[in-house]
Amino acid sequence: MIEIDGKNIYFPIKHIPRDQQLSALEFIKRSLNCGAKNIILNLGTGVGKTMINAVMITNYYRNFINTNDDVKFDILTNSKVLQNQYIKEFDFISNYKGRNNYYCDRFSCDCSIGKELHTALKTSCNECPYDIAKNKWIHSEIGLTNFHMFSTLSLFQKDILKNRNSNVLIVDEGHLFEDVFSSYLNVVISAKILKNCGFNLKEIETLDDRFISKIKYLDKYLEFLERKLMPMIENKLANFEASIKTSTSKKRIEVGKYIQNLETKLLSFKQLFSSYANDPNNIVLDIEMDKNDKMYSGTKLIGQHIWIHDILNEMVFKNYDHVFFTSATILSKDVFCAVNGLDSKLTSYYEIDTPFKKENRPVYYMKIGKMNINSKEETFQKQIPWINKILEKYKNKKGIIHCTTYEIADWVKDNIQNTRLLFHDTENRDEILEKHLQSTEPTVIVSPSMSGGIDLRGSLAEFSIILKIPFPSLGSKKIVARKQTNKDFYTNATISELLQMYGRTIRSETDRSDTFILDSNFSDLLKYNSDKIPKYFTEAIKVLKI
Ligand code: SF4
Repeated sequence: MIEIDGKNIYFPIKHIPRDQQLSALEFIKRSLNCGAKNIILNLGTGVGKTMINAVMITNYYRNFINTNDDVKFDILTNSKVLQNQYIKEFDFISNYKGRNNYYCDRFSCDCSIGKELHTALKTSCNECPYDIAKNKWIHSEIGLTNFHMFSTLSLFQKDILKNRNSNVLIVDEGHLFEDVFSSYLNVVISAKILKNCGFNLKEIETLDDRFISKIKYLDKYLEFLERKLMPMIENKLANFEASIKTSTSKKRIEVGKYIQNLETKLLSFKQLFSSYANDPNNIVLDIEMDKNDKMYSGTKLIGQHIWIHDILNEMVFKNYDHVFFTSATILSKDVFCAVNGLDSKLTSYYEIDTPFKKENRPVYYMKIGKMNINSKEETFQKQIPWINKILEKYKNKKGIIHCTTYEIADWVKDNIQNTRLLFHDTENRDEILEKHLQSTEPTVIVSPSMSGGIDLRGSLAEFSIILKIPFPSLGSKKIVARKQTNKDFYTNATISELLQMYGRTIRSETDRSDTFILDSNFSDLLKYNSDKIPKYFTEAIKVLKI
């Protein structure tokens, strides 16, 4: 720790803060002094929120708000990639990931399975790499973890968070936190999931045929979980635990994985039953179909909460003295507070536009047709020649095509023959992204799920094409119910996702990337929501005559 102008620098500041970072800090000071508990910082790409989160908030807080030596900060990010970026830049932060990221030497597997085997076989072990990382994180001043790990801790391993007893929560990519947390409360059942839980083919076939593919309503789903699946899972769990001692080491690892998946399922059932008992109107059943599942019906049943603001408050926010959210796309304080269950009176909101020049990030809007449910196939046919022209114009450059859905990604695959295009499915997304990042060829990723969390700076993408405005799907009962109870939520979610797509290829002051929007629904979005769309985005739009 060093001292500058009578203030302690607990956590090293490597760069001189930019003016925008200093003005964000000024806002933080004012807010905390006025009694705000929650602070939302909507900072355009390029402002440098990582440094604000890791050193500016923390140093200020230690000097002025809580001067005790035992004050602790929890920083959350949305992915392991972002976690690694933090650790690379700020080595004083203690990093903590899920068990499957640590290697268990004793059983030659990851620690998530190792832990199950360890418990079932009642062995002793003093040098577990997962436990070492966990204990270091529990006692660290600044602890970092990802949304997924944090959700698991908050829901199923509360003792670890209680033990850490942190004062301040800093949520990076704050616009996504509620969605990720919510997904941990979902109870998803499909043939594939049963397979991963160790059910045999005959059992899966029977369950899929008699229940999973037949259930249409929530009451039947809950009845199926409680009366049929839960006893089967409990039985299976007992059998696996009993069999593990006599299994070969290879089989043990497989059984360990099944035990872990079965235990997680049971915990999620219990949470869903309890939420349903509290407020039955807040639970819905969504049904999705996986057309790639050739063995079974492909039905996926998803029991989920419509809103989780009460759960978030009870399980997360109430445990901290102050909570900070940073993001480039939290567009409305009111909507964000409503979705996350924050008291608006105790929450302050600040925004700074991106400092990147608009000349470097033009948005070309081409009114080709509307990608609505009934017109999208026809519109896509009209988009094809334009996609080909754009690919030709940037023939030596890398890029990305945002499709919004796998259906549209498949249309691109079927209709545009170009060896530069890289497609992925739900299983190989990261692998294909890595291929794009490593390739020296002008590859173009075609994706329905890369609107956020990836960094395509510099030559990694110099153009992007948005085929469909990313309205959340109204095929989901959850989204419909959310839209009915909070109309602004729907519009905000759409604009936020669109801005995330736009932001993938503009990552630094020197970046230059052209964005093309080919869906005429963009006109309505602009017309009816001019107050919600940031100026830095609208000022970059150029309408192209076609
Ligand atoms: S406690 Fe030991 S046996 Fe268990 S996962 Fe960790 S290293 Fe492996």
